[in-house]
Amino acid sequence: MEKDKYLVDNNGFYGRFGGAYIPEILYKCVHDLQLSYRSILESEDFMQEYRALLQDYVGRPSPLYYATRLSEKYDCKIYLKREDLNHTGAHKINNTIGQILMAKKMGKTRIIAETGAGQHGVATATVCALMNMQCEVFMGKTDVERQHTNVERMRMLGAKVHAVTTGNMTLSDACSEAIRDWCCHPQDTFYIVGSTMGPHPYPDIVARLQSIISEEIKWQLEEKIGRNYPDYIIACMGGGSNAAGSIFHYMDDNRVQFILAEAGGEGVDTNRTAATITKGTEGIIHGAKTLVMQTEDGQIEEAFSISAGLDYPGIGPMHANMAQQGRSKVIAINDDEAILSGYELTRLEGIIPAIESAHAIAALKKQTFKSTDIVVLTVSGRGDKDVQTYLTHKEKAGEYGKF
Ligand SMILES: *Cc1c(COP(=O)(O)O)cnc(C)c1O
Repeated sequence: MEKDKYLVDNNGFYGRFGGAYIPEILYKCVHDLQLSYRSILESEDFMQEYRALLQDYVGRPSPLYYATRLSEKYDCKIYLKREDLNHTGAHKINNTIGQILMAKKMGKTRIIAETGAGQHGVATATVCALMNMQCEVFMGKTDVERQHTNVERMRMLGAKVHAVTTGNMTLSDACSEAIRDWCCHPQDTFYIVGSTMGPHPYPDIVARLQSIISEEIKWQLEEKIGRNYPDYIIACMGGGSNAAGSIFHYMDDNRVQFILAEAGGEGVDTNRTAATITKGTEGIIHGAKTLVMQTEDGQIEEAFSISAGLDYPGIGPMHANMAQQGRSKVIAINDDEAILSGYELTRLEGIIPAIESAHAIAALKKQTFKSTDIVVLTVSGRGDKDVQTYLTHKEKAGEYGKF
């Protein structure tokens, strides 16, 4: 029952947030999805196909790894949930596998997606190749230029990449353009949304597809420590999907505290930040009412973060509600703190995390733990794509930057 407080209600809302604020032309296809998504997700044949692909294609379950040296440093017991070891290098594939199976069940033949850094675009292009579906990805022109390797990966996988030249030419504009395309082809097109954002039912679809993360944490902890819950769960948050998946099965368990790291950029007191929960106000973005970084007259402000995956001026409505209810504690982590913590994990554990995930590591410094505390921290992705960024900023890595 408690859990219902944080899940979507029958009208598509999480407290004051959520809903489906969409153009008239999309009403039918969004409404069809609202009516059918739960029964598809819960059907036996969906489950079987989804679970089999997660196991043999993605490589699940992802390990829950006891990080000895990191635990010593923070004087508590830290387990890393290794989403970085998934096929394509992050948690995003859990979601795209599920949504493409939904698209097939609904008889759709054409897939569209938005992408920022290109991680969701690659995860979508991957499952489209797997399922032999037409794939078109919208990506801001600025991102196309700075994330060229991912653009080439998408093209190699057979996707068409559209460079979006409106607005700031980044993620937010790519979302708007994907929605525009969807309006032109509502019949045959399925929009694979990359995070717990967008109009209802997308935030709920993505949270449920990512909830495999906390489902595994439960039995893995039971196996390792004879207790199926931690004291803390820590995750980074852009739109909120890896965080939602990490906490999903613990939402109603008040023994578990959630610490979620959003991107502070150059600082929440500057205008170069992506700390939406800290700085945002109520507004509508990409079909949902949520917290948004906007000017007084409602113009969406550009988000800024060293991490392209956290660089979004909105936040999933589920997280806006949980933060406002005090269920989760959201802290802003600045670029330099993330860089330092990325190096720290690399040197202490031999794991180069995605710069997004490094924000979660940095949250360890913001909380005092007891030595008996069990902390599960989700490493949402691997850092291969960020090596150049880490090296460019190695002066921020303190003792770890001397090499
Ligand atoms: C996309 C991405 C994120 C941010 O997205 P969420 O929906 O908030 O999880 C975080 N980490 C990695 C590695 C990503 O690729």
